[in-house]
Amino acid sequence: VVGSDRKQALEDLRPDTSLTLELSEPETAAAQIARFAAEHPLRAIIPTDDESAVVAAAASARLGLPHNPPEAASAARRKDELRRLLHAAGVRTPRYGLVPTDADPRAAAARQAYPCVLKPTFLAGSRGVIRANNPDEFDLAFRRIAALLSRPDVREKGREAAGQILTEEFVPGVEVAVEGLLLGGRLKILAIFDKPDPLEGPFFEETIYVTPSRLPKGSQRTIGRATTAAARALGLREGPIHAELRVNDDRCWIIELAARSIGGLCSRALHFGTGLSLEELILMHALGRDVEKLERERSPAGVMMIPIPRAGILREIRGLHEARQVPGIDDVTISATLGTPLVPLPEGSSYLGFIFAHAPTPARVENALREAHRRLTLVIDTGP
Ligand code: ADP
Repeated sequence: VVGSDRKQALEDLRPDTSLTLELSEPETAAAQIARFAAEHPLRAIIPTDDESAVVAAAASARLGLPHNPPEAASAARRKDELRRLLHAAGVRTPRYGLVPTDADPRAAAARQAYPCVLKPTFLAGSRGVIRANNPDEFDLAFRRIAALLSRPDVREKGREAAGQILTEEFVPGVEVAVEGLLLGGRLKILAIFDKPDPLEGPFFEETIYVTPSRLPKGSQRTIGRATTAAARALGLREGPIHAELRVNDDRCWIIELAARSIGGLCSRALHFGTGLSLEELILMHALGRDVEKLERERSPAGVMMIPIPRAGILREIRGLHEARQVPGIDDVTISATLGTPLVPLPEGSSYLGFIFAHAPTPARVENALREAHRRLTLVIDTGP
């Protein structure tokens, strides 16, 4: 059964396989799911993003299905709440503050230690995340994020959270992403991805993810322990998690923890057991099957989120065939639509597409992704 905020085209013909939900109102959506389940019993509710994670937890609580406690899913949705709970539990995470969007940015800038990062509390995909090295940069970043937060669609999504900007100390170091599955409160690590492109700001565009990690085993164990401690601090217990951590001097900092699986099409880089997808693994777990022993395939794998280089209208993508010919490349998928405007970070919220690769070593995966990307030429009309 697909639950979506937009009515499915065939919903009237097949009312038992789809359901239109008020996703921005978790309790309303949970009540809609409960009403549906009274006639068409549901065995599990699987969220696909940050917003639906809160709805799935609330609906599961009503139906008595194993899931995350609703408060834990809500906390993972809010970056300020995440920081508060992690600090309270003694889990290493950046120091932070909250500044109302209508405050005087100059006064806030004068109080801030540098370098720092400013961000909205509820958006994803690095949207609105900006580094500032001094008060002038703080002032500019603050105004830019406040403008983003004042857009009607963003305001509607964030509600009262759109009235605040989170300020954090900037944590240097290498960054990894952790994909995991919580099994009754215990964390099974599915993959640790290295992010070989430096993420130093001012904007934080994700590009290459490669697994297994090339970090020393000791660092990987520290990453696993920190992610477990973070999930516990929030009270998350069941289902997928996606975390971002920074590692420096063998210390780990939790940057982000979400109660969902990896975003975009990135999960296509992962296969488990004899070729199961991440989504199949998550479904199996939700249905009570034993996934304990399922491991990621042995072959190193990776994905590149193709960045949007500049704003404009995407006219053409050249070199797709050549990119797909690079040894190790499994596929190149373009998700942007020709003829539509491209919006880069920090305001943008999507990627141009994805490149997937497999190779005998992580370094060769990374090289294949870079070479395939190099072969692509984007024709972007930036106007007069
Ligand atoms: P989102 O959930 O939108 O991806 P994050 O809070 O995870 O937002 O920030 C996006 C990226 O910005 C992170 O993956 C990291 O590279 C960078 N970043 C965010 N906060 C910090 C910080 N306090 N110190 C260093 N880098 C940060």
